[in-house]
Amino acid sequence: MTTTITITGAGGQIGYALLFRIAAGDLLGPDEKVRLRLLEIPQGLGAAEGAALELQDGAFGLLEHVEVTDDAAVGFDGTDLALLVGARPRGPGMERADLLAANAGIFGPQGAAIAANAASGVRVTVVGNPANTNALIASAAADGVPAERFTALTRLDENRARAQLAQTLGVPVHTVRRVPIWGNHSATQFPDISHATVGGKPVGDALEQIVGDVPAWLDQTFIPRVAKRGAEIIQVRGSSSVASAASATIDHVRDWVQGTDDWTSAGVVSHGEYGVPAGLISSFPVRSVDGEWRIVEGLELSDWARARVDASVAELVDEREAVRALGML
Ligand code: NDP
Repeated sequence: MTTTITITGAGGQIGYALLFRIAAGDLLGPDEKVRLRLLEIPQGLGAAEGAALELQDGAFGLLEHVEVTDDAAVGFDGTDLALLVGARPRGPGMERADLLAANAGIFGPQGAAIAANAASGVRVTVVGNPANTNALIASAAADGVPAERFTALTRLDENRARAQLAQTLGVPVHTVRRVPIWGNHSATQFPDISHATVGGKPVGDALEQIVGDVPAWLDQTFIPRVAKRGAEIIQVRGSSSVASAASATIDHVRDWVQGTDDWTSAGVVSHGEYGVPAGLISSFPVRSVDGEWRIVEGLELSDWARARVDASVAELVDEREAVRALGML
């Protein structure tokens, strides 16, 4: 079998980190061949073509074909997995409405091109920010493609949250489970440890022994650290997070295709779960079953957690209204 994968913004930094992981089999395993389509804007074509030459030089056994294009109809032709990475970054002095308008001009046409050209079972993952609302815009423009096929990446936030918890507790990260992200991939996101386990046991007692006042630690240390980790990386590294964002994208798509054995986080369309307005693309605790994301239902939310979820969802509602006001939804 061969899977066709389209990466937009493939000439950018995250694209560069993603391509080689995919070609090496990290996404779909060692038996699945891949055909890559690198979609760029004209200014990005040179970088994408350079990456394609390097892919050739990697002599990857699983890589059947690489195509570079700035034509969305070609880029999404027959695609099974669309990774929408390219987005318009916020420029100096740019208002949020301008940013949303610029991205609506990218993600609307891409959604339409996916509907017209992609494989019938296409799965779309939006990485480019504002990821949740960009996914909503693409989905709204993709006539005939179920809204459940459009998702936004919040897995990096979850990975960061699990890593922070593991480091605080002094345990290996794989032993820390069930730390979902709720809401928007933004500073309002809510990394929720209410149901988290370490080595299969609730995390609360172990955490209290180390940090003392757990609610204060969550408010003042944990949640801000996770939400502002991107800025911390920029400060230390001198440029934005790239490899970790690519790695989380691999985690998201791999789990979506191959299934999960426990909860994870993804921005998926709401049908009203947990009071999140239907149609929004919000992050929830999810499982992947039979190739579909399913929201984990029935979890208790404390008043404190509820307020955090509501604040992040209110931001998503505002973004949707702003895009509607621009006539782009
Ligand atoms: P990156 O590859 O570094 O980032 C791409 C997008 O990912 C940005 O929107 C960025 O958001 C987002 N992102 C999501 N999570 C993270 C994270 N944790 N850390 C960092 N970024 C994150 O950007 P480059 O500028 O290197 O590359 C973008 C490419 O996209 C360019 O080659 C450009 O030509 C192309 N492009 C393609 C388009 C198209 O195909 N139609 C449209 C627009 C651009 P944030 O900006 O908030 O950091």
